[in-house]
Amino acid sequence: MFDLPDEINYVLDKLYESGFEAYLVGGAVRDMLMQKPAHDYDVTTSANPDETKRVFSSHRVVETGIKHGTVTVIVNGTPVEITSFRRESAYSDGRHPDAVSFSKDVEDDLCRRDLTVNAIAYSKQKGCVDLFGGISDIENRIIRCVGSPEERFAEDHLRLLRAMRFSSVLGFAVEEKTKEAVHENRKFILTVSFERVFSELCKLLCGINAKEVLHEYSDVIFLLIPELAVQKGCEREYGDGKYDLYEHTVNCISYTEPLLHLRLAALLHDTVKPSGATETDTLRIRDTVAANVLSRLRCSAALADTVCRIIKYCDEQINGDDKVSVKRFASKVGIKTAKDVIKLKRADILAQDPRYYSRLSDLNAAYDVICEAEENGVALNVRDLAVNGRDIISLGVKSGPAVGELLRYALDGVISDNVGNEREPLLEYVRAHIKVK
Ligand code: ATP
Ligand code: MG
Repeated sequence: MFDLPDEINYVLDKLYESGFEAYLVGGAVRDMLMQKPAHDYDVTTSANPDETKRVFSSHRVVETGIKHGTVTVIVNGTPVEITSFRRESAYSDGRHPDAVSFSKDVEDDLCRRDLTVNAIAYSKQKGCVDLFGGISDIENRIIRCVGSPEERFAEDHLRLLRAMRFSSVLGFAVEEKTKEAVHENRKFILTVSFERVFSELCKLLCGINAKEVLHEYSDVIFLLIPELAVQKGCEREYGDGKYDLYEHTVNCISYTEPLLHLRLAALLHDTVKPSGATETDTLRIRDTVAANVLSRLRCSAALADTVCRIIKYCDEQINGDDKVSVKRFASKVGIKTAKDVIKLKRADILAQDPRYYSRLSDLNAAYDVICEAEENGVALNVRDLAVNGRDIISLGVKSGPAVGELLRYALDGVISDNVGNEREPLLEYVRAHIKVK
């Protein structure tokens, strides 16, 4: 017996009382069986969409995916997605079923699902309907296709990436036949829209098993991001040792927090042009390469920008002993980027030979300097100064670029502790500078 939110119980009960079968299905059942909090609840029912609309005629009902049999019912302000049992016919394009037909049988609906762990239905009346051994696969921590992996991947090519994603997120091993089929059918992933691919890839990257999955399925990853393929076998020299650049990338990811922008930055921080590039070229262009990859993958502009800024600045020398230079750096790139850059640099070092670990203390010190500046509200931007452009003009400066320059001079004075961030001392500090000039 699962403890479900009131609105889900209400929907399931109401459908049942109206003479239909109704189950919770998919991720929520899987997560609850794993004693994890569920986040989205999918309801599946023998009622067809028109019947569902009639059952909930006293509620607001939105036709969110009517073609696929999904309607959303608003219960006490909470949206609940209800999908009619579906049976899918052939998939001639490997992306969409040729036709969707509704069914009265929950078995049909479970058959069309991707993985055994995602194909368990639950209702109060019937308990768990587990036709493909999903519960035992959860217990044994296994990702396995429902039915023949070859067929399932041929129907919908995205599923091979979904198998990888769930292996990473749940930390489950992929069953041998499913694994083989992922490798064998990998080229079909290129027929799927990059939007769908990117959404799965992002979840994969933030999973607890990301390292293992990126390692095992590098062949799939390289098809999606050829810029990483050139890392394979590209050995970097470090002291007496060498390491493979792709291994380094994967390790670097595993040393970052599971936050998407950091993981993407780690994934792309050492990308090289597929045509190959010299070491100096590589350093200079890698934020551009990363931007190309992210745009191709249809990443949002805001996220791509965040990621590329981290990559762009991760080659800057940061000296934790020199508080002023650290604050200058944070002032130049912004506090958030500065912290993320340090996190990426830390992961980058941890992914190298342990003899370089000594550099970590420097980065930790720099991180502390930035946190301290943030907590104490230290001015790191001209906007934070106790004087503004008008104050500078009142000193007799003509409005124009000179005003901005003087504000930046004042800011640098504050950052380097030459003057406090107070109006009068700052004006005096600027006045003295103007005189000398
Ligand atoms: P998450 O916790 O990421 O939301 P989820 O299992 O709910 O996990 P969704 O992508 O939201 O995953 O999909 C909901 C359910 O729909 C899955 O559990 C699965 O049963 C089914 N499903 C989703 N995508 C596919 C697909 N491409 N092929 C077959 N079944 C799918
Ligand atoms: Mg879901």
